[in-house]
Amino acid sequence: MFITGNHKTLSASLETIGAAFAIFDLKDSAKGAVLVTANSRFEQISHRPVAECIDRPLTEFLPRYLEKSLRTCIAHCQTVQGAQEAELVVERGGESHWWRLVASPVLAGDGATTRVIATLIEITERKQLEHQLEIVRQRFEAVVESAYDGVITVDEKQTIKLMNEAARYIFGVTGEEVVGTQLTRFMPMRFREQHGDHLASFRDSPVNARPMESRATVRGLRADGTEFPIEVAISKIRVGNEMEMTAVVRDISERARLIEELSRAATYDALTGIHNRRFADATLKTEIGRCLRFGHPMSVVLFDLDGFKPINDNYGHACGDRVLQAVADKVRSSVREIDIFCRWGGEEFLVILPGTDKTSAAVWAERARALIAAEPVTGCAEPIPVTASFGVAQFDPDTPSPHVLVERADDALYHAKQNGRNLVVRA
Ligand code: GH3
Ligand code: MG
Ligand code: MG
Repeated sequence: MFITGNHKTLSASLETIGAAFAIFDLKDSAKGAVLVTANSRFEQISHRPVAECIDRPLTEFLPRYLEKSLRTCIAHCQTVQGAQEAELVVERGGESHWWRLVASPVLAGDGATTRVIATLIEITERKQLEHQLEIVRQRFEAVVESAYDGVITVDEKQTIKLMNEAARYIFGVTGEEVVGTQLTRFMPMRFREQHGDHLASFRDSPVNARPMESRATVRGLRADGTEFPIEVAISKIRVGNEMEMTAVVRDISERARLIEELSRAATYDALTGIHNRRFADATLKTEIGRCLRFGHPMSVVLFDLDGFKPINDNYGHACGDRVLQAVADKVRSSVREIDIFCRWGGEEFLVILPGTDKTSAAVWAERARALIAAEPVTGCAEPIPVTASFGVAQFDPDTPSPHVLVERADDALYHAKQNGRNLVVRA
């Protein structure tokens, strides 16, 4: 009936169709597509009563922009003798309406296309949703791509779905080729096996976002094989039946380096490189605690350079510093791994000897005294002979105080000074 019918015979049945519907005749090539019939929904395209358009070519009742899109689609449909699809935008009252057009050929007995059926469905709402979605997507992309922190999204199998520029920079990879690869490539070997379990436990937990184990330092692995500390916050969203997990990753190498530097400065002496007094105080406390618990002995040796002031006065402060470094170097080489050697202040040094009684401590002190006195310190204007006086004291459980212990060593040191210097005296 579509081959031969006209508006009169067809219009009633066309009204039952839920889409805008029109039939065009193509027999007269001079006129182009002529409207045979259409349902009233087609008026949303034509913007005039269908009755006025019947038997007239497209050019006569459609605005040029619309006529052209429709004509092109119909012509193509006729050429290929197969259905064609196109999207039309209809401007009406300052608003844009999108229509999805399907042009299907009506084949006559001889196989030629003499008529084309146009079916149009309005898709404005879908287009608007798509547009909204695109805005959201662009906004998301702008935030993610400009973020200073790395953003990595993985599925349940740890396959990377997204890795922003910052993350690629942090882990030393370029381009998009990381998408589709395994997240574990960015972890040191020793963490890889367990990571799947961590991921699964987060997937199943009722919490949707949390920082990753702030206790343990989390480590990342760069493409060049170097490890570095990272801070990670993870979140998850459900996508269909699967969970997608996103990690915000921050490279904290610089922070870790600063902390390391600060903690070094807090426990080491800048001039000599040995432990400082703050560290000595803390160590004395812990070592005394151990002595009380386990009942083993401990001794301290306090020593002070003899006649140091004249060295400063005669050769300058820089030379005095050089002497302090040289003495520290010599003594450092003579202490055991478990002994703690500290700069107590000025030109005074304290050595804590865990597990050592005063007799053994005095033997050690005597060796250190001889070592310092053996050779003059070089590096100043001339070689400078240096000696030191030593006070030795053993920890007494009856007076379990660091202060008392050092004071007793200091008293012994005072006696060494009184008795001619370059001496070891026991408390
Ligand atoms: P004694 O034999 O009785 O110990 O005499 P001394 O001259 O060694 O004793 P004194 O305590 O009078 O002198 C210590 C000097 O050490 C005074 C101070 O200027 C100097 N001193 C303290 N710290 C430093 C330092 O870091 N570098 C240098 N060059 N000198 C220091
Ligand atoms: Mg001195
Ligand atoms: Mg002194």
